[in-house]
Parts: sequence; structure tokens; C-alpha cells
Amino acid sequence: MRKPLIIDCHGHYTTAPAALEEWRKRQIANLNTPALGPKPSELRISDDELRESIEANQLRLMRARGSDLTIFSPRASFMAHHIGDLETSKTWAAICNELCYRVSQLFPDHFIGAAMLPQSPGADPATSIPELERCVREYGMVGINLNPDPSGGHWTSPPLSDRHWYPLYEKMVELDIPAMVHVSTSCNPCFHTTGAHYLNADTTAFMQCLTSDLFKDFPTLKFLIPHGGGAVPYHWGRFRGLAQEMKKPPLSEHLLNNIFFDTCVYHQPGIDLLTNVIPVKNVLFASEMIGAVRGIDPETGHYYDDTRRYIEAADIGDEDRFRIFEGNARHVYPRLDALLTRKGF
Ligand SMILES: [Zn+2]
Repeated sequence: MRKPLIIDCHGHYTTAPAALEEWRKRQIANLNTPALGPKPSELRISDDELRESIEANQLRLMRARGSDLTIFSPRASFMAHHIGDLETSKTWAAICNELCYRVSQLFPDHFIGAAMLPQSPGADPATSIPELERCVREYGMVGINLNPDPSGGHWTSPPLSDRHWYPLYEKMVELDIPAMVHVSTSCNPCFHTTGAHYLNADTTAFMQCLTSDLFKDFPTLKFLIPHGGGAVPYHWGRFRGLAQEMKKPPLSEHLLNNIFFDTCVYHQPGIDLLTNVIPVKNVLFASEMIGAVRGIDPETGHYYDDTRRYIEAADIGDEDRFRIFEGNARHVYPRLDALLTRKGF
């Protein structure tokens, strides 16, 4: 068997040049007077600045850790869909997506884009479709990040199983792209963004799907639940039992043709549990590097988010490892698969 391509399905542009954040601050300062705010054309970041921000950070670590290709989306905590209105988010998403596209053009062998959507609390998800189509058709992006809670921790939107979201799902199915279900920053002080809100949302999204028949309506719709699925794998018995009481089919039929989990779990016992409990066909390699947890684990001497080590050390066979590193990503991201096939992989 050949060596797998190491595809990291979860990377964000957390190291964008400071001009991006400056632009965003000016946009936020002028929320009530958008005419006085910065124009998108006022953001000027050169290719050299982009190159530098990637080569010194993500690409350096990818080389050190031996990962080949990252599915790369705008910084999740910066999406902040709760700020401003739909127009605010449309402008912001377009700018952030364009930067990820430019990175994918500068490093075509190492980065491929996934889009953030211009979501906004109370806005019809259908309003995200033009940006989604632009990112897929013009930028060649292979997936999206879908925020189930654009309010930033107040959960004012209907559950993902609600018809509210269906126009978006119809477009995803048409374009054959999956969504990573990914919230953004929490503006609710009860929820720490990366330590609570992210993991809560992962668990919540799974349960919203479990209680519904969403995938009967959309048999080919695919969701990737990040951060190892939040609490889901650890509580798999609870979820199976709840589904049974609700007279739902076994989870393998009810959800596991459509829901996948990444490996952004930052210690060996967590990965061991994930790969023991969840069928390997549903697990995709990811690190979310450079992201929420940037330090070195004193117990191992390695970076917490160097997740490749955990997969290499997990008690699974080479075929399973191949699936986690490459095969499953190509199944979940058909547009990525087509691109890799064209490149001879
Ligand atoms: Zn993320």
C-alpha cells in the first residue's frame, strides 16, 4: 500500500497579516455609519506578506510534522457573525475568503480553500448562497464552515434540522460540498470560545441531527463535526440509547452516512477513544493548527496540536490509518478528490 497523503481537513488562517485585523476594527468602529467605514479596496496585503505569514507558520509546521495538504478557511473566531448586520458579514466574509483563496493560489500543493459564510443573526441562510457559489465556482473551494449559532453563544437560530437551513443544504448537495459545523467567537460570558462554546456546539449539532430526520431529506448531505465531535464519542452510549428510545434507527444508519468527526483532540487517550468508538470510516485527520492550543505538552514534550503523532500511535491498522489521513477526506470532499485525481494522486 502506498503512503497516504496527509490531508489536514481543519486549518484556519489565524496568522493573517495585521492589516486584516486593522481593517476589521475600522469596520466595527463604523457599524452605525457604514458609509464612513473602510472599503474592501482599502485592505492591501501583498503576495509577499501572505507568503511570509504562511511560510513562517502553518507551512513550517506542516513540513516539520509531515502533513501535505490543509483545507484552509478563514479564522473561525474572527467570523464573529454576531457583529453588525448581514451587509457587515457579507463584506467581511468576501475579504476573508479571498485571502484564503490567494493562499491556495500561492501554495497550490499545500492549501485548498474552504469558505466562511456571510451569516448574520436572523438572516435567511439563503443569503449566504451567492458567496458560497462564488467561493466554489471561482475560487475552487471544496467545503464551507457553517455556523449553527450566528448569535455567538445565545443560540437564537433554529436547529440545523429545521427547514430554515434547507436552501443552503440544497445548494451544498448541488455543488457536492460538505460543511464543517463550526461556531465562532462567543459573546456570552458563560461560554469560553474554544474551551466551551466550540465543544458545546459540536455536541449540540450532533444531537440536533439525531433527533431529526434531516438525512432522510438530504441523503447525500455531509457534515464534519470538528474538535473530535465535542462530547459525542465519549458519550456514544448515551446517544445510542437516546436514539433507541426515540425509535430512531441505529446511529450507524441514522447518522453515520452523513456525519464525520475530525481528530482535533489533543491527547493520545482522546484519539484512542475516538478511533475505538467511532467507525474509522467516519474519522478525518485534522489538527486545527495554528489554533486554539499552541503550547507544548510537558507530559510528552510535543505540541498538543501535533495530532499526527496520536494517529500514528493509535492501535489501528495501516489501512485504517490510510483512511484517516487521506481516504475519508477524499470521500467527504468530492471536489478535493477530483482535484487530487487530476493531479495524479
Ligand atoms: Zn476550527
